[in-house]
Amino acid sequence: MPGYEIIGEEEQQEILDVLASKTLFRYEFHEQRRGVYKVEAFEKAFADYCGVKHALAVSSATAALRVALAALGVGPGDEVVTQGFTFVATWEAVFESGAVPVFAEIDDTLCLDPADIENRVSPRTKAIIPVHMCGGQAKIKQIVEVADRLNIPVIEDTAQACGGRLHGRALGTFGRMGTFSFDAVKTLTTGEGGMIITNDKDLFVRSSEFHDHGHDHDPNVGRGLEKRNFIGFNYRMMELQGALGLAQLRKLDDQILQRQRQNKARIKGVLSGIDQVTFRHSPDEDGDIGSFITFFLPNEEKARAFNKVLTEEGCPAVSWFENPWHYYGQWEHLLASKSCLPSGYPFKTEDGQDRCNYPVSSLPETARILSRSLTIPINIHMDQEIPRIIQAIQKAALAL
Ligand SMILES: *Cc1c(COP(=O)(O)O)cnc(C)c1O
Repeated sequence: MPGYEIIGEEEQQEILDVLASKTLFRYEFHEQRRGVYKVEAFEKAFADYCGVKHALAVSSATAALRVALAALGVGPGDEVVTQGFTFVATWEAVFESGAVPVFAEIDDTLCLDPADIENRVSPRTKAIIPVHMCGGQAKIKQIVEVADRLNIPVIEDTAQACGGRLHGRALGTFGRMGTFSFDAVKTLTTGEGGMIITNDKDLFVRSSEFHDHGHDHDPNVGRGLEKRNFIGFNYRMMELQGALGLAQLRKLDDQILQRQRQNKARIKGVLSGIDQVTFRHSPDEDGDIGSFITFFLPNEEKARAFNKVLTEEGCPAVSWFENPWHYYGQWEHLLASKSCLPSGYPFKTEDGQDRCNYPVSSLPETARILSRSLTIPINIHMDQEIPRIIQAIQKAALAL
């Protein structure tokens, strides 16, 4: 998963270009920068890589989601359907837009179950955010079909699946907009950073304006004279990040994804030999980025027993059911409606009425799926660890 493992001379050279240009801002300084436009070049290269018309670099994937929601006109009074297995950023961005997140079940892809969408939509639903979790694809075609029928736009949260494809087509290009993360532990890293992609010019322009204080980016006037079509905020990426992104993107297929997939295949080969182990459903195994391997035991008890041995052997798997990061049932602050504001917003209105609440029991299928799943994170460099992991798996199999 982490692009930081392969930071090298290419990244250093790109960074030196920026420092030599003495220009850290993505806009303006046209003479001083002498043709060095790293963020713009990264956007162009990323759009080409995904086969999409427009890409906008932003300061994080959380920002990307926030900007995409703004561009789609989502705000107070609206609801956004997403899945109860994701990183908190997905629904933080919804709250930050003023809308309210509504959680739906995952299926055995570990991503939004297309069959549960209609149970969760209401006349207020203004967007659906499926999340391609842990490097694999959601059933994105089915999800977009349902959303199209309901006439609700889809934003694909592709933060964990940069470079992933479904039958050759880049993830993030199936919905109206796709968002990506380049934070410090993601597949492609710029330290902090994100990207929005879309084929819709209007959405691109609105995003671009919103992420830069509303500046209309009129090419005929200097920045100081630009006007604003609406209010925005600052979610800009800076040149140093763009430089890192360019170097990392050039390495993505051959030095990151290919090696992750090879490492994953070695571990999967051993797990496949265990009768009671089954795997997360993949709509297209070849397009998975290989950053995680998730497998299922027949029940929660067996998953615990299996992981107990892995842990004793020094190779613990992640149980997303128990880990505080990604599962609805572990988001204690959300479940308890905890806000730092005295009013209790965004859980309450300014006069103390409930806007939303989140009972722990509302996603039984998600709980069932995650309680019997285990996940092994895959690195780029793990030649030393793989034999140990394989040994631990073989030992754990005897405990079943
Ligand atoms: C990491 C992540 C984000 C947020 O990314 P940042 O760039 O850290 O803001 C959003 N969604 C998912 C699913 C993520 O894993």
